[in-house]
Amino acid sequence: MAFLELEGLNKAYGEFIAVQECNLSIGEGEFVCLLGPSGCGKTTTLQMIAGFVEPTMGRIVLNGADITHLGPSKRGLGIVFQSYALFPHMTVAANVSFGLEMRGMPKRDRQERVAQMLDLVRLKGFADRYPRQLSGGQRQRVALARALVIEPSVLLLDEPMGALDALLREEMQIELRSLQKRLGITTIMVTHDQVEAMSLADRVVLLNNGRIEQVAEPFEMYERPSGRFASTFLGKSNVLAGNASGAAVQVGNLELPAERGGLSGAVDYMIRPEKIALTEIGGLVRGQVSARVFLGDRWLYQLDTPIGPMLVIDSNVGLPKAIEGNVVGLTWASENARLVARGVAS
Ligand code: ATP
Repeated sequence: MAFLELEGLNKAYGEFIAVQECNLSIGEGEFVCLLGPSGCGKTTTLQMIAGFVEPTMGRIVLNGADITHLGPSKRGLGIVFQSYALFPHMTVAANVSFGLEMRGMPKRDRQERVAQMLDLVRLKGFADRYPRQLSGGQRQRVALARALVIEPSVLLLDEPMGALDALLREEMQIELRSLQKRLGITTIMVTHDQVEAMSLADRVVLLNNGRIEQVAEPFEMYERPSGRFASTFLGKSNVLAGNASGAAVQVGNLELPAERGGLSGAVDYMIRPEKIALTEIGGLVRGQVSARVFLGDRWLYQLDTPIGPMLVIDSNVGLPKAIEGNVVGLTWASENARLVARGVAS
């Protein structure tokens, strides 16, 4: 049974609809990422769950109870925003203790719980510091401890690592994931970073223009994007306009292999750059290398082909296969091409 259910949630600001028909079932202990471009409605959705934004329509059901119109503090949720919002004049311990104090917990119990929490987020020994005496990552961990100390039924995170540099961000992602697993806490995180969503989430909810575009496990979404938007927002993709008939798909003057699965007519033919192999002349398409970028563990090639520019990613296993100006062949297996009827999803 779903632990948290969003049923037909809508949010309109005057004429503008920020979130439309949002239906989502989240299981207990699940880690879900709301992913999408700026302005797609991620924060609005999270704020409706948190109780800071009133839905225009729809219901939010938590553990069987309708919480749609309950005040934020009555929902028992833990919340971490990008800006941490720690109290600057309070020590780390006082910051973490605050929520317990509000709930009237006796001092001795509070101290014990705060110590446990600081231990959990690896900040033992930092209890008496003030937020200004902490690094970004440490502040972020205090915010997490403060959200978790009240033993929330759901943890809501809005771009919690937005202010961290790339290395720290990666470290915190691993920590957050292992903490979440250990505590088994149902977690919903907003991010616009596809790599973060893929590496953290059990399921990704991809939003576009206020609507859910696709809900799937990361690998599934990557391999089977619902359409052009999903295939280009999550990773890179070559999306070619084609026409499916017979055993192949006509793209420009070429016939490309695909498993049609009963589709016919206008389709988007999608092939991931890393699924394409560069060959000597031959292959399915001929291409001339127009640009080549070294990315350390791989090379990114852009090629001009008769069916338009295409991207190819080739692992760095030694010498690069081609340089700018070379004419090469591109080839791939038919099972790696993904077909979606044109106009289905964006
Ligand atoms: P970002 O990644 O940039 O934070 P987001 O996906 O979280 O984006 P939201 O903050 O949910 O986007 O906003 C969704 C849309 O609703 C945006 O177009 C935004 O301008 C609009 N919006 C949000 N809050 C209000 C408001 N109070 N009044 C009017 N429009 C709003």
